[in-house]
Amino acid sequence: MGEQQQTATSWWMTTREVAPGPSLAGDLDVDVAIVGGGFTGLATAYFLRRDEAAMRIAVLESERIGFGASGRNGGFNMTLFGLTLGITALRFGKANAAAAHHYMERAVDTLRDLVHDLRLDCDYEHPGFLRVATSESYRSRIQREIELAHKIGLLGIEWIDADRLAQEVRSQTYLGAWWEPRCGLLNPAKLCWSWQERLSEMGVSIYERTPVQELARDGQRLRLLTANGVVHADKVVLATNAWSHFFPQLRRKQLPVWTHIVLTEPLEAKHLAEIGWQHRQGIEDARDFVHYYRLTADNRLLMGGRDVTTARGMEMDHDLNDEIFAGLRRDVVETFPCLDGIRFADQWGGPVSVPVDMAPAMGYAGDHNLVYSLGCVGHGVSLTHLNGRTAADLVLGKKSDLTDIFFVNRRTIPWPPNPLRAIAVKAILGYMHYEDRKMDARPGSR
Ligand SMILES: Cc1cc2nc3c(=O)[nH]c(=O)nc-3n(C[C@H](O)[C@H](O)[C@H](O)COP(=O)(O)OP(=O)(O)OC[C@H]3O[C@@H](n4cnc5c(N)ncnc54)[C@H](O)[C@@H]3O)c2cc1C
Repeated sequence: MGEQQQTATSWWMTTREVAPGPSLAGDLDVDVAIVGGGFTGLATAYFLRRDEAAMRIAVLESERIGFGASGRNGGFNMTLFGLTLGITALRFGKANAAAAHHYMERAVDTLRDLVHDLRLDCDYEHPGFLRVATSESYRSRIQREIELAHKIGLLGIEWIDADRLAQEVRSQTYLGAWWEPRCGLLNPAKLCWSWQERLSEMGVSIYERTPVQELARDGQRLRLLTANGVVHADKVVLATNAWSHFFPQLRRKQLPVWTHIVLTEPLEAKHLAEIGWQHRQGIEDARDFVHYYRLTADNRLLMGGRDVTTARGMEMDHDLNDEIFAGLRRDVVETFPCLDGIRFADQWGGPVSVPVDMAPAMGYAGDHNLVYSLGCVGHGVSLTHLNGRTAADLVLGKKSDLTDIFFVNRRTIPWPPNPLRAIAVKAILGYMHYEDRKMDARPGSR
């Protein structure tokens, strides 16, 4: 376990031992090079290779597979696109909001089916999702969202009142919830490594500890420079998520924003008896700075969210934030007072990729030889897997219902350069904090 403990970026990464893969040593010639070994890169490699068994594919990962958000997240396989349905409808129109939700439903089902069909070992369970109202204001917000969902024809989402909710999960802070059975939970690091095994079996070459330092055109082809070799490729997929700003082609499409998680020791039987939660649903609240929480396979409570950390410049070293960790530990006990005194086993954070309008973007960067996918914000576990299918279609030049969706090849709003960017970020976060304070404080709230 020694090697793994030192390099773990989340508790998930300690739940299985995986031998490190090779790094690139020497030059390489491939049909497709995929930069980034998270869910986006891994799923894209899978769908490409499934369609084109002879295609030479290399995945190049800076650190190790699952090092990014994919090995650190809450593990919710869920339907939320962007921030909320209402915001998506406002920004892209109601028809696109409905299309986005259908895409996400398909994404959730695609991931569930892949896990089953390929026997991806990731402690998968399918308990459904609750978005809980923790004040009267949030109750109204959630009910408005459900009304909108029904108005635009979305099924499978209903309001459950406080009494019915208490039969499922008991917290004094709950006034009712959005209930959506279509949601799974999984161990994201195990999923990454299962993908790594399946792809290797399928003949995809995976190189860890191989950061791509430069991407350049080379006639009709592309050239990727790494410390120990040059990769020549016909096509490249940038699956670099929150690190995408290091590539000039994507520099202003997204910003990295860090979300943070705390994890308890396994809950005791007496705690579970008091809380209920026998069906183990994934839970979020309805704040702008959402809390998300769930049980792990061994009944630890994982809670993330509450606030975020942002970068000032290009730096990527904001995984740890003691103030947010302390706040989350308090929030666990405020939500479930019987956990007062529980020991916390771990804490970590990771970067998500955030475009100005907080909605995903993918497509061609320049010509059709360079494909990118980013901007899944905090809701990419399902999305990245279906985006892998979509990215594969883009690489293969196939027009499909997936490549026709509105966020493929959409015009993104560029983040402005500093100091304007810093001012914009401060204003957006300031407004979200203000709104949360206002909505937290209404009568009926905790
Ligand atoms: C703490 C946290 C909790 C979250 N919880 C949830 C959740 O419960 N449900 C949900 O749906 N979503 C959640 N998300 C979001 C979700 O994890 C992401 O949207 C998703 O994992 C993104 O996958 P990806 O493959 O696009 O990016 P990543 O997993 O971030 O992968 C990008 C990879 O690219 C590599 N890379 C970058 N630059 C280079 C380079 N130059 N050369 C080579 N490699 C490079 C990085 O090392 C990294 O491994 C959460 C995210 C975080 C951080």
